Amino acid sequence: MIYYSLRKNAPNVSFREAVIKGIAEDKGLYFPTEIHPLNPEILKNLNQYTHEEIAFEAIKQFVGDTIPTPILREIIAETLCFDFPIVPITNQCGSLELFHGPTMAFKDVGARFMARCLGYFNRENQEEVTVLVATSGDTGGAVASGFLGVKNVKVVILYPSKKVSAIQEKQLTGLGQNIRALEVDGTFDDCQAMVKQAFLDEEITRHKKLTSANSINVARWLPQMFYYFFAMKELSSIPKKISFSVPSGNYGNICAGMMAKRLGLPIHKFIAATNRNDVVPRFMETGVYNPSPSIQTISNAMDVGDPSNFIRIQELHRDEHNDLHQELAAYRFTDDETRAAIAELFQSYHYIADPHGAIAYLGAKKYLESHPSVYTVFLETAHPVKFLDIVAPIIDEQIELPSQIKAIINAPKKAQKISRYEELKSYLRNEIE
Ligand SMILES: *Cc1c(COP(=O)(O)O)cnc(C)c1O
Repeated sequence: MIYYSLRKNAPNVSFREAVIKGIAEDKGLYFPTEIHPLNPEILKNLNQYTHEEIAFEAIKQFVGDTIPTPILREIIAETLCFDFPIVPITNQCGSLELFHGPTMAFKDVGARFMARCLGYFNRENQEEVTVLVATSGDTGGAVASGFLGVKNVKVVILYPSKKVSAIQEKQLTGLGQNIRALEVDGTFDDCQAMVKQAFLDEEITRHKKLTSANSINVARWLPQMFYYFFAMKELSSIPKKISFSVPSGNYGNICAGMMAKRLGLPIHKFIAATNRNDVVPRFMETGVYNPSPSIQTISNAMDVGDPSNFIRIQELHRDEHNDLHQELAAYRFTDDETRAAIAELFQSYHYIADPHGAIAYLGAKKYLESHPSVYTVFLETAHPVKFLDIVAPIIDEQIELPSQIKAIINAPKKAQKISRYEELKSYLRNEIE
């Protein structure tokens, strides 16, 4: 499989190069030149295949011959070592729980898959690769856990001091091994700016191979197709049309769903559900894409003012507005509406949702008002325990700590404090020597 840059001003590359580079020289995102539907026999009989077999069929064309089949199968098996259940909520909708992985966020799948691909591509290199990543919470934990123990790869995570939850901080600072945490005296934007500066700093990149691990990387983006296959497998006995409501921030997950549809899944509609960072709902209403600075909300993984993957969605629709409207609806919700949805899910259905899942539920509900006969799956992207400070005051029940969290909660915190770019630079340079 060949990938091209969406800015169309850089050479085409293989999966291997796209993963190692992350982004093309012209700063464009990589996109596959071809998308082939799967064998209809497989699509018709999903319930006769295991998750690993389905995932292999879905991803193999995108990997091409850059990873041998037995190794790709192994990578998939290691990536998918947990469940993806759908919990029925009403007879019209259910919650697809994507949070049963090691860090209890759906980003585990993409991070684990990418880490193993990179580990394979770098297996014979004497030179270590450093994954440098800024996080506002969830991404860093998933990346740290995904890359833990991967040979020849070191991970350096920058996080804003006192702005991630206690559990998230443990997930970043408690692992050790090849994972390093830098606690930045500043905001997430400061962390992000330092990371960007490091990538442009030749005094670092001359000596050190740096790569990023965010969702623009094809190895983090594409494995998210699996969720939609697993859900369609589980729902194969339901004689209804099926739509998905996806809580969206950078729009990588929902775009992967659209890719899964191109592979042949009969998905009726995608609903992008988001918070007050509503650049996409506004685009759907007006046809004008007008990014704006991000606004802080209680569903903070979606506080994105200019979603990086939306350009991939537009590419899938050849930039045609009508075509996009056929496939996508987009709704925004406020923090008050989000809290009310958490309360409603708890009181009416005894279901505990996190703020992101609650927004996806609201998206499903709104869509069902006009399409009552379509079964709508909403994606629950994080375990509620990760957003305890928001969820706990709304529901009157103790949330039990899952084993993944218990395992990390008492680990000693190891982090180096920094406040300026020069400190990051000398840290990375000392790591080199
Ligand atoms: C990252 C994240 C999202 C948004 O996913 P995108 O692929 O960026 O749209 C939603 N919910 C949670 C909990 C997340 O961590």
